[in-house]
Amino acid sequence: MNKITATRNLNDVITRVEGARLKISEHHIVKIIGISKYSTSKEVEELYNVGQRAFGENKVQDLKTKAEELEELPLEWHFVGTLQKNKINNLIDLSPTLVHSIDSLELAQELNKKLEAKNKKLSILLQINSAYEETKSGVMPEVAVEIYKQILDTCPNLRLKGVMSIGAHVNDEKIIKDSFKTTKKIYDKLVPFGAKYCSMGMSSDYELAIACGSNMIRIGSTLFKD
Ligand SMILES: *Cc1c(COP(=O)(O)O)cnc(C)c1O
Repeated sequence: MNKITATRNLNDVITRVEGARLKISEHHIVKIIGISKYSTSKEVEELYNVGQRAFGENKVQDLKTKAEELEELPLEWHFVGTLQKNKINNLIDLSPTLVHSIDSLELAQELNKKLEAKNKKLSILLQINSAYEETKSGVMPEVAVEIYKQILDTCPNLRLKGVMSIGAHVNDEKIIKDSFKTTKKIYDKLVPFGAKYCSMGMSSDYELAIACGSNMIRIGSTLFKD
């Protein structure tokens, strides 16, 4: 990816996001996170140079490497991958802007305990398995509101900011849409409890996710393609 392709890729995404969000409301703001997990620090820098500021990784070590290599740039880093317990301290030390992928009460409480010990706080989202896919992480939709409230009640060092989902991995658009709608309904119930972000939508389905109410999308392959 060079400057020309970076410009084209970002412009394409922004144009399509604008189209999708304006169908909801001009006040519906959508934040774009560039997922750089298959890309190099050099490519992140190319996108930074054409205006992208927020990036995300799905492995703690990769987040550390890129954040260090690019530390002179004013980037914000998100973590979107499955968090293993033995990597929690490493992740905390990187002070990411937002961790999208807290997928159980147990993990939230473990993270809270380690944050307490370091006297730090961390912003997180609760991941919901709205596609009901065994290969996906996340709490089940039926218990999501309850678990969210339990995290609020028991984890003072977590700043719980909303929910995240990965759309159903199928070709049938109706099924993908249903999975997004399930997450949006839960998000709406959590807004009175401080939820701000509904993180859903990736390269293949972000316009649909926005149509269903997403306000944060995680774009990898489309943004970093050659
Ligand atoms: C890789 C990844 C993305 C981006 O996927 P693309 O299809 O490449 O846009 C978004 N969210 C999560 C959790 C990911 O792991």
